[in-house]
This record gives sequence, C-alpha cells and structure tokens, in this order.
Amino acid sequence: MDGARPPLHRQLVFKARPENFHQNHLRRLGRPRSLVGGASFQQSRFNRISLFCCYLFFFFCIDSIHADSPPPLEIRFLDVGYGEAIVLRLPEGGAVLIDGGRPEKGPRVASLLRQMGIDRLDALLVTHFHPDHAGGLGPVFDQLLPFSSKKERTGMILLPLFPKAVEPEVETVLRKIERRPYRVVRRGEIIPLSDSVRLEALHPGALRGDPNEDSLAVKVIHGEMIFLFTADIGPEVQRELLAIYGPKLKANVAKIPHHGGESIEPFVQAVRPERAILSIGPNPYGLPKEEVLEMYRRAGAHLHRTDLEGTITITSDGRSVRVRTERRR
Ligand SMILES: [Zn+2]
Repeated sequence: MDGARPPLHRQLVFKARPENFHQNHLRRLGRPRSLVGGASFQQSRFNRISLFCCYLFFFFCIDSIHADSPPPLEIRFLDVGYGEAIVLRLPEGGAVLIDGGRPEKGPRVASLLRQMGIDRLDALLVTHFHPDHAGGLGPVFDQLLPFSSKKERTGMILLPLFPKAVEPEVETVLRKIERRPYRVVRRGEIIPLSDSVRLEALHPGALRGDPNEDSLAVKVIHGEMIFLFTADIGPEVQRELLAIYGPKLKANVAKIPHHGGESIEPFVQAVRPERAILSIGPNPYGLPKEEVLEMYRRAGAHLHRTDLEGTITITSDGRSVRVRTERRR
C-alpha cells in the first residue's frame, strides 16, 4: 500500500546507510576498484537526488517565508518647508495623513499623495488648527476625503478639539470639517488603523486654551516598533507627559515637537528615539533651536531633517525600521 511507504527523504536515508557502510567496508578490504567504482556511481546518483531534494526544500521554505511576511508600514515625512504633513501607508493597504502643511503647500501634498497611488484616505488626523499644520488640507479634503455618511472606518477625521475661531488661513478648512463626520480624540483613546497598526492618543487631556499645547499627540504602534508624533507641544505638556507616561514614552522613531522649539531634556531622554525627525523649512521664529537638537544627539538619536534631506521615508516590518531620504545631506 502506498500509505505504508516511508516518505521519499526517509527512503533515501535508509538506502544511503548500507551503501556507505558497504563502500567503506570494501575500501578497508581492498576489493577490486571496479566494485568500488560501482558503489561510487550509486553514491553520486544519490548525491544528485539529495541535492535536488535540498533545492526543493529551500525553494519551498523561501517561498513560504515570502508568503508569511506581511507588507511593511511606511511613514513619509513630506518635505513641506516650515510645517508638517506625514503620510502613513498601512500594511493592509490603507492610508492615513497627519496634517497637511501650510495653505500654499496643499496642492503639493494632495498631488504627492496621488503620486503614491493614494486616492482616498482612511483617516485624517489634524493635530491642531495652526496654518502650518491644517492650512494645506483644503485640496486633501476635496480630492481624497469623499464625504461618507456611513459609519465606516474610511474617511475618519480625528481632531483634538473643534475650535470656534481660527486664523483666516485655516477658516476654509474648518468649514470643510464642519460638514463631515469627525471624532474628537482624548488622552488614552486607542484607535485601530488596521489589523496590525494602532494609534494611542497621549494628549490632550484637559485643554489649556493654547493650540500648540493642546495639540493631538499620538503614538503609533506596529509590532514592536513605536512611532511618536508630538505635533507642536511645548515644555509644559512634555513635563505632563513625562509625569503620566515616564519610560513608556520610549519610541523607536520620534518627530521632534514644534519644529525643534523649546524642549526639556528629561522628556527627550525618556523618548530616547533611535531616529528623530525634524520637519522644518525657513521660518522667522529661529527654529530649530540648536540646544534642542543637541538634546536628541545626547539621547543617542540619529537626526533627520526635511530641509536638508527632503522627504524622509521610514519603513517598518514590526521588528525594525529602515530609513531612506529624498536627498543626501
Ligand atoms: Zn507647527
């Protein structure tokens, strides 16, 4: 019966042992070479079959590794000058945008998203309503967030608050948000972005009335990798987060808060990122502050800057990250 026969590789092993034994025995006895030669022929045939089996084994192993490894999470810090626009491409295929840069950068942000093959956002996160973060979101709303009244995860808009008044440059964006379903997010909320990526809101808790300090700060978790997005929070909130989260602030990749504005060293030491990203361009505020960049260097971070390297792309497989930049420094 076929079912009673041992598998192919076991048949070969069972056959090989007596042959090896026979061949060695013949050598020891000094039998005629023709007999030894016959054994060698069988041996080389066996070697060829073994080699073929090994090849098949590796082929199937490599194939199954490819089949099992999911696509990566990709995070792009777009070069939008002074401001911020960050794109997350989820391993399962969706896309999330965090902020959209200044008003004049809006068309570029929308076209960059389209160039990346994104024609609809699964979520848009507006960290706060200053022009360098929310000003460029007009074209994104019009082109990439088609209105959906269904209670579905696509097109989700996440905000730290819904402001009553904003600077004129953000007014149109605010009116667009008003017409769509949005969700105000508070500290401690956990929002799944996909099966393998989740977002945890670290801030705001109670509002202070300062848009920078009330920015939505989040942690994005993908496997063992943690990404920290802290918008424009300043020293006051950094102290608060340190008191609440302490060593849990540790991240593999962190965006430097407020374009390298004032920071406190214990916060930077708690975050201790391997990669720190600065989204920056020419500005009248004297940012970034060199002493803040120095804090990140002291914490062991490798610094990346959008003004020097262009768009910075981080790829995560859930266990490690890789970085590539548009330009070399
Ligand atoms: Zn800003």
